[in-house]
Amino acid sequence: MKRTMQNTHHGVRVRFPPSPTGAMHLGNIRTAIFNHLFAQRHGGALIVRIEDTDAARSKKEYEEDILASLAWLNIPYDELHRQSARAARHQECLERMIQEGHAYLAEENQEGTGRVVRFKNPKKTVTFHDLIRGAISFETAELGDFVIARAPDRPLYHLAVVVDDADMAITHIIRGEDHISNTPRQILLQEALGVATPQYAHLPLVLAQDKTKLSKRSGALSIAALRDRGYLPDAVINYLALLGWHPEDDREIFSREELVAAFDLSRVQTGAATFDPKKLRWVNKQHLARLSDEAYAAHLRAYLDAHPLPVPLEGRAFAALLPLLRERVEVCEDMAAMAEEGEFDFLREDFSLPEAAAEALVFPKKRDEKDAREETARHLEEAARLLDALPEEAFTAEGVKNALWPYAEQEGRGEVLWPVRYALSGRDRSFDPFSMAAALGKEETLARLRRAAACAAPA
Ligand code: GLU
Repeated sequence: MKRTMQNTHHGVRVRFPPSPTGAMHLGNIRTAIFNHLFAQRHGGALIVRIEDTDAARSKKEYEEDILASLAWLNIPYDELHRQSARAARHQECLERMIQEGHAYLAEENQEGTGRVVRFKNPKKTVTFHDLIRGAISFETAELGDFVIARAPDRPLYHLAVVVDDADMAITHIIRGEDHISNTPRQILLQEALGVATPQYAHLPLVLAQDKTKLSKRSGALSIAALRDRGYLPDAVINYLALLGWHPEDDREIFSREELVAAFDLSRVQTGAATFDPKKLRWVNKQHLARLSDEAYAAHLRAYLDAHPLPVPLEGRAFAALLPLLRERVEVCEDMAAMAEEGEFDFLREDFSLPEAAAEALVFPKKRDEKDAREETARHLEEAARLLDALPEEAFTAEGVKNALWPYAEQEGRGEVLWPVRYALSGRDRSFDPFSMAAALGKEETLARLRRAAACAAPA
């Protein structure tokens, strides 16, 4: 055993060993991220081990969710193992422990059905140096001769994890603090097996906003949900890295490379971290702001293709509205909310002005004046005339603005631009008229302005 478990690898080797018994939540993935950053920082390897030995609770779909989450977050790993494939190896180690007197078969007291395997506890003080918490000591006597296998061929978690970590030459075990109490048992097993004890680092808990523990049932906090809502993977990594860790300065926005360079286990806190969805949004917005125009457009496009809006946002409309979206969208899902508010309804092919448009087209401050509707019709006709002179290729938000601006300055900005905006959107609140004109294109814009002029003109 000693020979086969010898550490033939060099350098840092960490592992992420999720149990595929539920959707990945932010706490699980935060553990993966810390292991990833630590491995990258030290030029080491990340081993993913699917701990699927609980056949009743493990599901293939959860395993797929784990791997899809890692892929989406762009967390590369060097090896992928399935614990269930290693059953023979676990059993071999268990048998050897029995032979060497470190474990023994015992009657299961309760039902007297079958026999379990108990570890022969040497009952000592186990002390380990946690890289985050410092020295931690446990009296193992109180653990008694704990069960390490439900049956001679069914080893339990502690044994499987210790054998796998040793065989995979894991140097650092970075995991949630809910595993601290498992560590003394696992160290006792390592000593009995004669394998090295890795370094431990137990991460603080991640709590939901109501301070409850995150669980596999908190669906909204799953990685799949964030992906579906259109978060950027690097923003999610950035935000989750800050849950329990902070850099030397107060910096909060990091690219992947910057995180790898700054990450350090000694700066991980011991107190629980609380997930703050507002902060995650803010971090996403900062990452969106860092994207080039091309990357930004591609990111939004990918979301829209996967979640088509009731009114399609594509082609020239998408291009024309991009600068506005850049200002307003913090997370792609905001576009769905804007669509719900009707902000894109002006793009509908069956667009028509509302019933009360004749009055609504008039700039509100002017509605009491006698010739208000006549004036409004005149402004709309003039706007149509000015834009008709604009060549198609100049029909951009900027081109439209330049064509209308001097006239609007001369006649009053509100007096001219309100009716133009209303003519294009049929709404009191909407995007600016120049962007909407560019989004609609010349022909449609002129048609709407002329229809609105006719509508405003008194009979
Ligand atoms: N499969 C265990 C879990 O998901 C792994 C624990 C460990 O890191 O040792 O909690």
